[in-house]
Amino acid sequence: MKKKLPTFKSVEEEIAFWETHSLADYWDELEDVKIDVRLRHEQPSPRIVTLKKLMTRCPIDQSKLLKTLMDYSGWSQGRLLLVRRVPVLECDEHGHRFFTPATARRVEAVFENDRKGKLKPDETMSVPVVILKQAA
Ligand SMILES: [Zn+2]
Repeated sequence: MKKKLPTFKSVEEEIAFWETHSLADYWDELEDVKIDVRLRHEQPSPRIVTLKKLMTRCPIDQSKLLKTLMDYSGWSQGRLLLVRRVPVLECDEHGHRFFTPATARRVEAVFENDRKGKLKPDETMSVPVVILKQAA
């Protein structure tokens, strides 16, 4: 049965109303609202800091930065996306890792291509998922 939605004088009045009424009875009176949602986990992992300029020393502990390659993963389109052989600068003291600006742009381009459906992966793998049992 369709019901007419009342006019509310305050947010509190509207909250009280919805606590005792079903949204389903007023569905036809509701307006469509467009909402853009950007899930944080869909963005490349923020774990790796991008240097503003090339450095030879770790900005955290001043130890020497060495060039190395890593596999970088992040969530994209609801699944894990792995980017292999990503060049990073890693400090030899604590293992802090940094992207150069150029590498960060290249990695972001991979994720952007995936969002646009233009990514051509070199390989595809399945990923085992384990749910850790909670201690009693
Ligand atoms: Zn460091």
